[in-house]
This record gives sequence, C-alpha cells and structure tokens, in this order.
Amino acid sequence: MEPERMLQILFSLEDASVIETVVIPSARGRTTVCVSSQVGCAMNCQFCFTGRMGLRKHLSTAEIVEQAVFARKLFSDEFDTITNVVFMGMGEPLHNVDNVIKASSIMVDEQGLQFSPRKVTVSTSGLVPEIKRFLNESNCDLAVSLNATTDEVRDWIMPINRRYNLSMLLGTLREELRLRPKSIVLFEYVMLSGVNDSVDDAKRLTELVHGIPCKIPHLFQSP
Ligand code: SF4
Repeated sequence: MEPERMLQILFSLEDASVIETVVIPSARGRTTVCVSSQVGCAMNCQFCFTGRMGLRKHLSTAEIVEQAVFARKLFSDEFDTITNVVFMGMGEPLHNVDNVIKASSIMVDEQGLQFSPRKVTVSTSGLVPEIKRFLNESNCDLAVSLNATTDEVRDWIMPINRRYNLSMLLGTLREELRLRPKSIVLFEYVMLSGVNDSVDDAKRLTELVHGIPCKIPHLFQSP
C-alpha cells in the first residue's frame, strides 16, 4: 500500500456521461472516497475545471451511493477499508439537495453503508436556503468553500456569492449552528497567489468566522 497515492475511478452512466470518484488514502490510516453529485456544475467557480462544463445533469440517489459502494468493494483488500465519504467531486451537492440528502442518509443508515455521520461530509459553495435545509434534515457534516474574505473577491472567484453574499452565508451558519450546539462547519479555503492570500485576508478570516463553531483544517495552495 502506498498511503498517499490517490486513485481515480471513472464511471460511465447510462447516457454515456462520465463521472469521477476519487479514493484518497492517508498515512494516518484514514481512507476517504470523494463522490460526485452532478455531471458538470452550474456554479462556475474560477478555479474549477468542472465549473467550465456547465451543469449537464443531477446524479440520482443510486448513482451517488453506488460510487461509495463500488469504491469500498474495489479497495477493501488494498486499504483497510473506506472510512470517510466527502461530497467534493464533480458538482455542487446542495444544488442536487434532494438526492444528496437521501444518499447521505443511506450512507449512514444501519441498513445502509453504516458510516458514522461524522465521517460523511457534504461540501457546498454556499447555497444558503439549501444549507438551512441540509442542517435541518441531515445529521452528516457540512463543509463550506469560503475562498475569500471580501464580497468583491468572492463575487469573482465564486459567482454564487452575488446571490448569497458573505454576510448572508456566514450569518445563516452562525444562526443555524447556534441551534445545534454539537455541530460544527468545516471551512475550505483555496489560496490563490495575490488574490486571497494576504495577511489582511488571514485577519479578516478570523473575524468573519467569529462565533461560528468551525474548523479550517487546511489552507490549499493553488499551483
Ligand atoms: S461548486 Fe464545486 S464543482 Fe461546482 S464549480 Fe464550484 S468548485 Fe467546481
């Protein structure tokens, strides 16, 4: 076993669309499967190749769950087991919220894949109404791609910010998580050289997330 080697699986769907699933082993014994939720994506984030495709279709609940089932079967001999699921592949999961909530609930169900809800994380670019719905209907974890500390920069990096700006997004998280004392949100932040990686950004980031139970585990540096 090579602990840090990522493995890519390509699925061909009935309509000949292709989706990608990635298995990510870690040296700490955790093996994560990253599943797709759509073919393409409508969100058009600047740094994302999938965003350039536009949205082609939502995946069904079965097409989402099958990615985790297949990865678990395929790699259970090579790695100990698949321990975590992240919805961070192709697509904006909460744009396909019905099927993503159903798929994540099957993944954590006793009669389903039996993952711990703390090991299944759904990531969003910031669809505020669907965030509220997800937090109300799912017991899985939520991650939010933040990637900027001002509306001016985020409007450009992540056009969804023009509809749901930082104040709406972070205000909603602050309010909703206040009602769920045990929940926290994971913030993702891709660092783009000269765009969102200044010392002032770091200071603003700590101010922006103040009062929100959260983790910012990695700062991703773009190539
Ligand atoms: S939401 Fe995710 S998949 Fe869609 S364009 Fe943005 S980064 Fe890419």
